[in-house]
Amino acid sequence: MTSHRPGRSAAVTLAMALPVLVLGSSALASPAGPARHGGPARHSGPARHGGQARQAGRCSAGARTLSRLGDHVYPDTGNGGYISVHTDVHLVYDATANRFLPGNHVVLTGRATQCLSSFSLDFERRSTANRSAGPDMKVGSILVNGRPARFRFAQPAYPGDPNGPDDPSPLAHEASQLSHVGGPGRNPLPPACSPELTSTSTAKRNSQNGQQCPANKLVITPAAPVRGGSAFTVTVFYTGRPGVHTDGDGTTEGWFRSARPAGDGGFVTTEPVGTEDWMPLNDHPSAKPTYDFYDTVNAGKTVLANGILVSRTPSPQDPRFPHGSVTWHWHSAAPVASYLVEDSVGDYRLTRRMADGIPFYQAQAGSLSAARQRQNRQIMNLQPDITRFEAAFNGPYPFSSDGVVVGRPSASFEEEMQTMITFAGGQIDTDTLWHENMHQWWGDHVTEANYNLTFFKEGMATLGEFLFGARTAADAAGGLGSPAGRRAFQQSLVKQFNAVYRSRGAFWTGAPSNPTPFTLFDGDSTYARPGIAYIALRQILGHRSFVRALRQIQRQYGGGHITEPQLEAGFRRWLPNASAACGARLGQFFRQWFDTAYPRGGGAHRPRITGPGLAGPGFYGKGGCSR
Ligand SMILES: [Zn+2]
Repeated sequence: MTSHRPGRSAAVTLAMALPVLVLGSSALASPAGPARHGGPARHSGPARHGGQARQAGRCSAGARTLSRLGDHVYPDTGNGGYISVHTDVHLVYDATANRFLPGNHVVLTGRATQCLSSFSLDFERRSTANRSAGPDMKVGSILVNGRPARFRFAQPAYPGDPNGPDDPSPLAHEASQLSHVGGPGRNPLPPACSPELTSTSTAKRNSQNGQQCPANKLVITPAAPVRGGSAFTVTVFYTGRPGVHTDGDGTTEGWFRSARPAGDGGFVTTEPVGTEDWMPLNDHPSAKPTYDFYDTVNAGKTVLANGILVSRTPSPQDPRFPHGSVTWHWHSAAPVASYLVEDSVGDYRLTRRMADGIPFYQAQAGSLSAARQRQNRQIMNLQPDITRFEAAFNGPYPFSSDGVVVGRPSASFEEEMQTMITFAGGQIDTDTLWHENMHQWWGDHVTEANYNLTFFKEGMATLGEFLFGARTAADAAGGLGSPAGRRAFQQSLVKQFNAVYRSRGAFWTGAPSNPTPFTLFDGDSTYARPGIAYIALRQILGHRSFVRALRQIQRQYGGGHITEPQLEAGFRRWLPNASAACGARLGQFFRQWFDTAYPRGGGAHRPRITGPGLAGPGFYGKGGCSR
């Protein structure tokens, strides 16, 4: 994700969006089986809800969160007792009215990791924070393995609550930026969810601590328990208006209604938790099912989703679609993390270019002026080249397609939706495309195990922007094939490092690995600081070993998620000097760069361990840890 320039209002030229797509291979790989690292199993540890009755032969409720005691960034999300394997999305969406119609449903396939008497999903069917753009949906019925199941909506309790998720104390269900809740009631317990802030003002960030969490946990009780180890399907039928979630920093994300032209449809961009504002799911970054989308929409509308477009099937008019409908099938054989599920619908102009053996989809709001679309397309056309360059660092591009969609609504950010990067506000820029495309490896293919590790992938994406700057400098000096070009490349990175490292004021005051919901996308601690930390790391390991480390991490964790210790170990094994002392020094590097909140200022109040050409001692020179 990158946060945003202010929205703009360009003159609108209405152009009918007739997809000019040439359909490619219709061969559809069979829906993938269980993803290798596909689930949150390793992560569902100590949440005691539901784990407590796991004695032999007994069935119990699945955990209603994947967070651990004390977690305070979206601690309500994710669900345990099963692993999310595959999802079939069957939207039946009237774009004109922005409504899901009867027949709209999802089929979630999971694999039980215990015998389940009940389990849960995340679904914000109605927003209490945003009555106009928030969702207003209704669940009609739920089937488990084809049989009707009972369901109810419940508030989350704080992770690890010994009284269980239905703790009768209201204190167990309160929102806060921090652990512990505090707030007007001086609640000593950890938060159960993050506040839906009505303001983006820093001064008001704690103003809603202590509010009750909304009942967004969809608790499902099947007619018969689900046996441990078995695969099972959950079918949820629901109708109504999808919408946006209001975050712990006051911004919104999810399903943005597009009204240019009137009745256009929806633009989906959802980090960190907004997917549950248009579909029920296991809403945690570590939950990564594969996807098929079979979306039925008004004839003439275009559906954009993850993966490969398999088919478009028209249907004649029916009472729901008086002018006919089209069912679009997109398939993602690769697992998709909760916040990277793309499913926009509208008057999009969709084209496809083949490069390096994969399709690059290009979609733009058809209402953009021809001139704007041309300008946007020039930048979109850079994507294969950007992908090639980034692959030289990260290893092979991990997915079977890539793409960009430029939508109209002024969402407050651009986002790395898997294989279909979203640009809001009608325009795209090159630097941000380098950033979001870098995320296809970092965030998308290798996903953070929890929200507090957002810095890990935002830092890598920021490095992608630095690489763009360095490559531009190299090209100006004769290209990377020449010594002068390579020198310019290196100098550009060092210059970037030094410019950011000089930062003073509040720059170093937030530890990247310990954000609050309010600071989760802080430009200093989540983007710039880890971004230059990776430049330093490249200097420490040497370019070749740095690249080897990136590729090894991709191979080892691709398709799944990574924790901070795993990430750090992934770099440590490539230290030129493998001594225990140098390993310990690298540990100190990570603590300083990723985990330490410094006092205001700069100077001594910042990480001290860096490399030569960058400021500070640590790894080089006689007896050093580098070559
Ligand atoms: Zn980003």
